[in-house]
Amino acid sequence: MMKRLFAVMLLCFTYAAFFSIVADAQRIENTNPNKQFIPDKSNHVRNEVVIPDFAGYKVLKGDFHIHTVFSDGVVWPTYRIQEAWRDGLDILAISDHIEYRPHSQYINADRNTSMKIAAPEAEKLGILLVPATEVTREQGVIGHFNAIFIKDAELMNLEDPKEALREARRQGAFIFFNHPGWKMDTLVFSPFQKELLEEGLIDGVEAVNGFEFYPRAISWCKDLNLTLFATSDAHDPVPVYFKYDRR
Ligand SMILES: [Zn+2]
Ligand SMILES: [Zn+2]
Repeated sequence: MMKRLFAVMLLCFTYAAFFSIVADAQRIENTNPNKQFIPDKSNHVRNEVVIPDFAGYKVLKGDFHIHTVFSDGVVWPTYRIQEAWRDGLDILAISDHIEYRPHSQYINADRNTSMKIAAPEAEKLGILLVPATEVTREQGVIGHFNAIFIKDAELMNLEDPKEALREARRQGAFIFFNHPGWKMDTLVFSPFQKELLEEGLIDGVEAVNGFEFYPRAISWCKDLNLTLFATSDAHDPVPVYFKYDRR
């Protein structure tokens, strides 16, 4: 009985595949009768985001805060590049945490590995990949900081967070203060963060992190001459927000 049911199911599937092929026959380019291709109807198109260049500057669309399985994300690094391409980005920083690596029991390569894995895919799809990392300490006291344009994340694996950021600075990194309002009721600079500002170790602040928006961060950037960031901080796969209209 089970065998017959399986045979019927297989037949149904085969018929469905066959009629799908017939319906798209004109779109099948390969004419080899022994190997034909079922048309890929998935949404493998780039959603171009058009923002004009201005004042002689080239405008790039990017995300400078994203995670993979090499810290606490659940996505493989090459897939991050494919998502970025799909969503029309030009530049991407993979910023896995230095200290927080909950999958390290299974994935315990060095802290530059996610970028090494992503690099060939980025090259292939024309995405500028920025080496980065996230220095991660207690929120509200020390906080989280992204260092982008780093050279070696391993050298930033230091006990003292200020030393880690100084190392980032030695590597020529650009450093920004992440999600200042996450888990907080209000936005204030902690004594440690004030020290960082005085030492010139903060270049920017996130005003948008994922689905959170911190209006006060805009005033901080304006008053302190810092760069404003909006990032995804995605840990899960990035959903297809923008549907390409094929009509
Ligand atoms: Zn963080
Ligand atoms: Zn993060």
